[in-house]
Amino acid sequence: MSPAPTRRPVIALHGGCGVMSRSLLSEEEWADARADIRKALEAGYAILSEGGPAVAAVEACVMALEDSPHFNAGHGAALNAAGGHELDASIMDGATALAGAVAGARAVRNPVRLARRLMEQNIPMMLAGPAADEYAAAHGLETMPQSYFTTPRRAEALQAMRAHDRLGTFASESEKHGTVGAVALDCDGNLAAATSTGGFTNKAVGRVGDSAIIGAGTYARNGICAVSCTGQGEQFIRHVVGHEIAARVRYAGHSVGAAIRMILAESFTPQGIGGGVIAIDHAGTVTAEFNTEGMFRGWIDANGELFVATHKD
Ligand code: ASP
Repeated sequence: MSPAPTRRPVIALHGGCGVMSRSLLSEEEWADARADIRKALEAGYAILSEGGPAVAAVEACVMALEDSPHFNAGHGAALNAAGGHELDASIMDGATALAGAVAGARAVRNPVRLARRLMEQNIPMMLAGPAADEYAAAHGLETMPQSYFTTPRRAEALQAMRAHDRLGTFASESEKHGTVGAVALDCDGNLAAATSTGGFTNKAVGRVGDSAIIGAGTYARNGICAVSCTGQGEQFIRHVVGHEIAARVRYAGHSVGAAIRMILAESFTPQGIGGGVIAIDHAGTVTAEFNTEGMFRGWIDANGELFVATHKD
């Protein structure tokens, strides 16, 4: 007989801190995006409420967001400078410190599933480029043509970014990026985190962002916190933000919220760099912080209450 669940589960997600200018989406699209956030939370929570592991819940949650056209991951991912898609994802199990990651995949439908497969395999824990897609196909994961990932909105965004380059103008934070991620605490007290992205519109071919880097865009450690980041990946990698948050909590005694706010205030806002983080601590407290106009986010708390927000609401 398995031991009785000891606590109420919690799950939280973000859908990126870019593409937030209210005028960029129609009322219907905002409503659809919110509905997809709800569905993704429910997909993860269904696993948690049956006593399933946090790592399976974050995978299911991120897969649902990858399948939605409204977020920059999987179907609806950003286009790179060559007009193609290169997808990054990672997942970490806070119970075991095992992790898996994918960089620059071009065909696997759900990069987070591939990251989980690699996590289970242990070594290699990270695959990049064609090898990632070949591994996915060889292990029975669904692969898709590049056209599957493209939506009209992403094609327009690429044109807009190319126009900025031609005219020497600057893109707004809204035009640039996105990403999806989830964090969860299961009934056994285990934490997990997962992140998936198409990166930046017009990013250089071969560029890898923080969403593929354990310790930068994704981090989870039982007893401390689980973290998924969004925003300019280069800055998250330089400051190893996922691990930095956990280190400040563990060694400096900060709350997760205080640690995130300090890092954004020290290393992002002064440089005019956008960033956002969703996190859960060991007790199930959810933190969602961002320094941009908004961040798609939602969670189901320990009382089973569902919350969805986009801007500073
Ligand atoms: N962090 C992602 C990257 O740099 C993009 C984003 O979240 O906006 O690839």
